[in-house]
Amino acid sequence: MKTCRRKGLLLLMAVLLLGVGACATKNNDMPQNDKAEEGKLTEEITPTEAVMPTEEVKSTEEGKSTEAVTPTEEVKPTATPELTATPEPTVTPKPTATPKPTPTPKPTATPKPTPTPKPTATPEPEKINIEYLTSGGITSDETVLKTKHLVFHIPANVYIPENFVETVDILTSAMENLSGLKFEGNPVYSDERTKVTVEKITDAEREMGSAYASPDGVYICSGDLLDLYALVHECSHALQFNQSNWFYCTWAMEGISTYTTYKVQKYVEENYPELVYMVGSVDQSFGNFTITDYEELYSHPMEYWVDNILECSWNDNYPIGFRLMWYLDETYGEYTKWISEYEKINPYYRSRDMGNVIQGEDQIQIFKTVYGETVFEDFYLWLKENEALFESGVVADLSGAKEVWVYPSCTYSQIVYSMGFSFQYEDLLVDIAVGREYLEEYKGKSTKDMVLLVSVGTTLELYDAEGNLLRTEGPIQGYHPIALDGVSSVKLVGSGTTSQFVIEGFENYKQ
Ligand SMILES: [Zn+2]
Repeated sequence: MKTCRRKGLLLLMAVLLLGVGACATKNNDMPQNDKAEEGKLTEEITPTEAVMPTEEVKSTEEGKSTEAVTPTEEVKPTATPELTATPEPTVTPKPTATPKPTPTPKPTATPKPTPTPKPTATPEPEKINIEYLTSGGITSDETVLKTKHLVFHIPANVYIPENFVETVDILTSAMENLSGLKFEGNPVYSDERTKVTVEKITDAEREMGSAYASPDGVYICSGDLLDLYALVHECSHALQFNQSNWFYCTWAMEGISTYTTYKVQKYVEENYPELVYMVGSVDQSFGNFTITDYEELYSHPMEYWVDNILECSWNDNYPIGFRLMWYLDETYGEYTKWISEYEKINPYYRSRDMGNVIQGEDQIQIFKTVYGETVFEDFYLWLKENEALFESGVVADLSGAKEVWVYPSCTYSQIVYSMGFSFQYEDLLVDIAVGREYLEEYKGKSTKDMVLLVSVGTTLELYDAEGNLLRTEGPIQGYHPIALDGVSSVKLVGSGTTSQFVIEGFENYKQ
């Protein structure tokens, strides 16, 4: 634990030294059914699996105000099942060949001072080089893909999932509505979308690495396109940077990101349950941001946590920020207001340069100015009464979803193909063909030995590609791997809850 903490601290220092925004490192090197351990070991955000449903948490959470979460028209998914409408070939405009007549040079007497050029945003043209599969596609060359708020720069040979643009639009529009912050509006970027640079790790099988954000955009790995948790987290930082380029302390910056991401997860579960697997369940947020000993937190004022790391937490001071933003949101409804207020008091010259770190005192004072002198004492008092809100063990409600698909992820040494969280279902069809195609066509892996593991008591119907029922399995008793040979989709029959939906049967690989 100590080593990990130090690693986290070093990482954080490196990050600040480099002037790079806060990161959401994803270490998916462990099987999904071992995720609780994973959360402990990595310094940053990693999903955890908690199996025990706690009704208490669920009901309290439902009582939480979500007025801000009004779904707008914009957030509705478009019905088109295609990734993008029609991939247009890139047309590079040719420079006009007509030679200009050389004007006779006028004698200029007084040289005018050169005006300082305003940084102008040059909108980048979309470049779509995607070879489409039955679902999703693979980039054949460098691709510039625009969504409503983001522009993705994707190298060649990267898998792009089905409905990617539509899904990103739903998530980013929700992020704006839930946080009260805008992607656009930064004077520098004015007409530009937030840039997302996608890295493909070319010397390894793995497609997961570190993700981070800085005032000049967001950086993620190719595998993050299949699981948009890291994208949402980093784009939350981008929303903050679009207001101000100041760097705040960990609990302030990561509070914005972790809490905004949690709100998006909750919003998606309530409005688009079929997309929960794309951002993770709220329980993963609770698991990632566990505090094991609240007394350590309460033993020092919030000022202390500007420069000191909470030992009894997973993931540095992220869990403090997560709770503080929750408190501010519930009490004042404006958990991001301090960003713009600080910018008014102490404007940062917005440029493409990296941001500066503000002083600890200023950090504390801005919260007191915006929310009152006793905001931090009040926060501790509130948290003492509400620690249970943050306990993990919440089961995701997918009962409103009719069909989902789940993508495998490729970690350091193995393929992890799992829903990754406990969920409630009602006649839910899970598409296996999408993940199978991804593994075979993109990763070049054999899927002939794939088997499915679900919780005891689950009844399944297995279908082929034409939708014909092949056979029924269950109710499952004990350990019972179900062969998926020739199976395109699996229906979880009736109403129930399963703590696992895991597909195994892949050979581990060496990097
Ligand atoms: Zn972060």
